[in-house]
Amino acid sequence: MSLPIGARIGILGGGQLGRMLASAGARLGFDIAIFCPEADTPAARVAASHWQYGYDDTAAVQRFAAECDAVTLEWENVPVSAAETIAATGTPIRPGVLALQTAQDRVAEKTFLEASGISCAPWRAVSSVEELTSALGEIGPDAILKTRRDGYDGKGQARLGAGSDAAAEFAKIGGKPAILEGFVPFSLEISAIVARGADGAVARFPPSRNEHEAGILRRSTVPCGLAPDVIARAHAHAAQLAEALDYVGVLALEFFVMANGTLLGNEFAPRVHNSGHWTFEACATCQFENHIRAVAGWPLGPTELICAAEMDNLIGEDIASTPARLAAGESVTLYGKHAVHAGRKMGHAVRRIQS
Ligand code: AMP
Repeated sequence: MSLPIGARIGILGGGQLGRMLASAGARLGFDIAIFCPEADTPAARVAASHWQYGYDDTAAVQRFAAECDAVTLEWENVPVSAAETIAATGTPIRPGVLALQTAQDRVAEKTFLEASGISCAPWRAVSSVEELTSALGEIGPDAILKTRRDGYDGKGQARLGAGSDAAAEFAKIGGKPAILEGFVPFSLEISAIVARGADGAVARFPPSRNEHEAGILRRSTVPCGLAPDVIARAHAHAAQLAEALDYVGVLALEFFVMANGTLLGNEFAPRVHNSGHWTFEACATCQFENHIRAVAGWPLGPTELICAAEMDNLIGEDIASTPARLAAGESVTLYGKHAVHAGRKMGHAVRRIQS
């Protein structure tokens, strides 16, 4: 089903991803409605309307679904029950419940990745100090402990090494159900971002090379410098995953790339992704527009790289570098967040590199 010109698309979540989706949607003539419980959010301030209700307010979610022609999301921790409520009304929710519930739980996610033919670092589910001790015996001491749910930007994670105390490390992540993952000596990290249309067509964005600091994305660079066969494998995995999830929209699959070219899947995001923001400046069609096109059932746009590019996240006080970056010819996108906090993503800057 494709939406008529001027239809209303709902977005669950009100952050910067919703802001950039709302702008892309407006450019295509859609009315964008944001649903999120917070007031005065980055997305709501550029959208046509804001529904300020809790995700657990079933009656409000039903009314929202009835007012929208299709609904999507910009935050992967939207409660699954809200997506189920929308699906039950008959309004399309893209991506759907399966993608959302799989991405929310690292055990479900790793299991799904492996079942889709994507290798991962060795991992074990652990929900007690005893299970953690036994998993460390199997995987080895060089490992990362991650909460199953609600982790992002390196939060809910502890790095373990020889001599780590299992009880203390488990307490550090709040004693929550978790996974223990072997630490991978990767040579680089990339993300394969694809858009899958309602008709099953897949558009592949050039993968970027991603550098993290303290678990937060710092910089993405394209082209990533990998051999074409490695890139083709990364794309094939992402497309396979999207198909297995019966996915509509943009999906980002993060990989660790080993020195010999082996790809290990880390996690996927059922939404547009921070490591794809540079697509606005450097691709024929950006991830935000292609997501909106997919949700609307419209044809996807071409995704080829127009120029090499580097994107820096502006985190916390980095936002103060905006005037200097603009003066140097960079393209700056700010998220309109009022308060600057350490570790908070305030915007990003893209340098186009002409060859
Ligand atoms: P995640 O929240 O799982 O994306 O982890 C955040 C970042 O921590 C990743 O992008 C990597 O830089 C690092 N990291 C996570 N898991 C591993 C691992 N198993 N081995 C090595 N580095 C990792």
